[in-house]
Amino acid sequence: MKILLIGPPGVGKGTQSELICSFYKLNHISTGNILRKHIDEQTELGKFISSFKIHEGNFVPDDLINNLIKDMKHDGLLENSYLLDGYPRTIDQSVFYVNNIISNLNECIAIYLDADRDYIINRIMKRRICNKCGRIYNLSQYNHKFSDNVCSKCGGKLIQRLDDNIDVFKNRLEIYDKTTKDVVRYFKELKVLFEVNALGEIKDVFNRIKNVIGEYYDSY
Ligand SMILES: [Zn+2]
Repeated sequence: MKILLIGPPGVGKGTQSELICSFYKLNHISTGNILRKHIDEQTELGKFISSFKIHEGNFVPDDLINNLIKDMKHDGLLENSYLLDGYPRTIDQSVFYVNNIISNLNECIAIYLDADRDYIINRIMKRRICNKCGRIYNLSQYNHKFSDNVCSKCGGKLIQRLDDNIDVFKNRLEIYDKTTKDVVRYFKELKVLFEVNALGEIKDVFNRIKNVIGEYYDSY
C-alpha cells in the first residue's frame, strides 16, 4: 500500500497521517519533516534549503526533492508500505514519482484531503500551541477550557505559531493551491485520486479515508 496524502496546509493532514499510519501500519514519510531536520541540523543540504524560506510557503526546487526521494528508493526505504506526506507537490514531481519511483501505478492511491478555504483559515486562526510541550489546541473545539490559555497537559502557555499569522498563512495557501491544481488533475486522469471532505470531527474524516482506502485495496 502506497498512499500519497495531498491537502492544503491547515486541513488536518498531520493528524490524519498519524491515524492512517498506525491503523494500516505504514511508514510515515514526510518530506517537510525531512527538510526541517536538515535545516535544524544545519547540514549542507539544510543550509541550501534554508535559502528558500519554506516556512513562508515557498517550495524547494523539484530536482532537489526528486533526488531526495530517489535516494530513499535506492536505500530501500520505499519498498514497504508507506504514506507520503508533502510529496509530490508539483506536476514535475508527480510525473517523476510515477515514472521513476513506483513500478506499478495500481499500488498507489492519492488521497486529496480538502475543505473550504475559509473554513481552513478560520481553523488556523484559532490554533494554539503549548510553548512548553508543543501540544496543539484548537480554540473552536474546546472553547470552555481556554479561559486561561494554559496547557491542560503540562501547564505551559498557549501561543499562536508564527506560521499561523494570517497573512503568512494565506500566502502559503495561495501558493499551495496554484501548484497543487495540476497535481490533483494529473492523478485524477490516472484514476488513482480520491477526494475526501476534511470538514468535521477528526474521527469522521478518518472514517471517510478508511472507506476510500478499503474500496481501493479490496484485500485490506
Ligand atoms: Zn503543554
